[in-house]
Amino acid sequence: MRVTVLGKSPSWQDAGGACSGYLVQEGDHVLLVDCGNGVFGKLRTHVDYVDVDAVVLSHLHADHFLDLVPYSYALIYAPRQQPVPVDRWPGTDTPARPVLHAPPGARETFRRVAGAWGSEDLVERAFALSEYAEADEPRVGPLRLRFHRVDHFVECFAIEITSETSRGRFVFGADTGPSDALVAFAQGADVLMVEATLPRPEREGPRGHLTPAEAGEHARRAGAASLVLTHISDELDVDWALREAQAAFGGGPVSVAREGAVFEL
Ligand SMILES: [Zn+2]
Ligand SMILES: [Zn+2]
Repeated sequence: MRVTVLGKSPSWQDAGGACSGYLVQEGDHVLLVDCGNGVFGKLRTHVDYVDVDAVVLSHLHADHFLDLVPYSYALIYAPRQQPVPVDRWPGTDTPARPVLHAPPGARETFRRVAGAWGSEDLVERAFALSEYAEADEPRVGPLRLRFHRVDHFVECFAIEITSETSRGRFVFGADTGPSDALVAFAQGADVLMVEATLPRPEREGPRGHLTPAEAGEHARRAGAASLVLTHISDELDVDWALREAQAAFGGGPVSVAREGAVFEL
């Protein structure tokens, strides 16, 4: 299994960057995890968007799904997706329609977003939309997905991805505040990707994000083999984040996600 970072920004993009998006590939099978703003353009530099088998979303915040809008327009209106020849494209009877695994309530959210300009069914026309339940274990070719609810401002799911054809276990922690549930779910992960949004814990109100040190502590308690910090702005110091996470993790390799970084499991 190969995981490629397409975007790692928090809810505002890095200079030239993209919000949450990760490409997971096993053989010819292609899964996109999250599709935040800026991700569709990044995706196109790595794979052909019609070759994506499925998209899975961790939660329904803008920075994790907004690029479903341009992706949907491509799937519906691109010349290559039409039934008749257009320009150099021969026409197709089987246009690409990736599966979209999205959290409960996604259909209504997409209708409200695209409905703002009168295209209510945009996303469900483009994708085969399926709202998952926490206990579901969807398959994408040899890849198996599992979900576990974490502590964020909206319903949000960490995602475990394993493969029938390789041994590695990848856990994406999604957006979360301090979460014993994530620690339990991620036990023994080979690559644990944890958000490190905050320079310091939220001063008031409910927790919904982590600091780099807290991310490191979660990885230590989970006994993860390696830690990748993500959902971190280019306005925070990478070396500081690494030091904080390393000190708390005390274990294997720690890195800060950067676009184009590849993790082989
Ligand atoms: Zn986010
Ligand atoms: Zn969020």
